[in-house]
Amino acid sequence: MPGPIFALERAHEVLHGLIASSRRGVGFTGAGISTECGVPDFRSPDSPWARLFPIDFKTFQSSPTMRAEAWRRKFAMDDLYAGARPGRGHRALAALVGSGKLIGVITQNIDGLHQASGLGPEHVIELHGNGTYAACIGCGARHELVDIRASFDAAGVAPDCACGAPIKSATISFGQAMPQGQMRRAREATLACDLFLAIGSSLVVYPAAGFPTLAKDNGATLVIINREATPLDGPADVVIRGEIGDVLAPFAESTVAA
Ligand code: NAD
Repeated sequence: MPGPIFALERAHEVLHGLIASSRRGVGFTGAGISTECGVPDFRSPDSPWARLFPIDFKTFQSSPTMRAEAWRRKFAMDDLYAGARPGRGHRALAALVGSGKLIGVITQNIDGLHQASGLGPEHVIELHGNGTYAACIGCGARHELVDIRASFDAAGVAPDCACGAPIKSATISFGQAMPQGQMRRAREATLACDLFLAIGSSLVVYPAAGFPTLAKDNGATLVIINREATPLDGPADVVIRGEIGDVLAPFAESTVAA
C-alpha cells in the first residue's frame, strides 16, 4: 500500500477518481465527522466523554441512581451541543447519495446529523442508535426527550414507560445488544458496495469496525479518511490523513441545506 496522503490537493484528486469510477459506494462514519459541528468525539484528548465513567446497560437497568445520572449527563451534553448543524462531511455524503454515487451511509454516530443533512432513513444505517429521542427498554415504545426532560427537571428522575419499564436514550450502551435490523442492513450494504469510505472513526469499536474489513475482503476499495492513524490503515487501499471537512468540501454541493 502507498503511504498515507497528507496533501489536500492530492486527496481531492484521488477521491474524485475513485468516486467517479465507483458504481455503488458506501459511507461509514464515526464521531470525527461531527467534531467540526461542535460535537466532540470520544477519543480525542480534550473529549468531555473521557472524563466520565461509562454507565453500561446492566447498570442502567438495575440502578435507579445510575439511571438518573445517565439522564443528567444526557441533558447536560444536549445543552452543550444543541446548536449542532451538519458539517461539510455530512453535506458531502448527502450530495453523493443524492447523485447516486453512494447507496447509503452506515454510521456509529448518535447525533442525527446525517438525517439533518437531508438523508432519509432508507439511506442512513445507525449502528449505535439515535440520541435525539428515547425508547422504553422493555416494550420498545418511542418517547420524546422534551417530555422526559420536563419530568426530570421537576422530579430529578425520568418517568418510566406506561408498560412499567425504564425509558432510555435510544442509543446503544456498552453491554446492550446491537440492533439486529441495522446490523443486517449494514452487512448488506457493505457486501453490495465497490467503494467503502471510512470517515472519522478510530476503528477500534467492534462490531462496527468489522465492516471496513468485510468490505475490503469482499473486493471493495477501502478508503480511510481520518486525522490520525487507525488499526486498519494497513489493509486500506487509500489512507487520507487530514481534516474531514477540508477533504470532503469539494463534494459538498450547496443544494443540500446546512
Ligand atoms: P472515536 O472518537 O473513537 O474516533 C474519532 C476519530 O476521528 C479519531 O481517530 C479522531 O482523531 C478523528 N477525528 C476527529 N475529528 C476529526 C476531524 N475533524 N477530521 C479528521 N479526523 C477527525 O469515534 P468512533 O470511532 O465513532 O467511536 C466512538 C463511539 O462513540 C461510537 O460508538 C459513537 O457512536 C460514539 N460517539 C458518537 C458521537 C456522535 O454521535 N457525534 C460523539 C462521540 C462518541
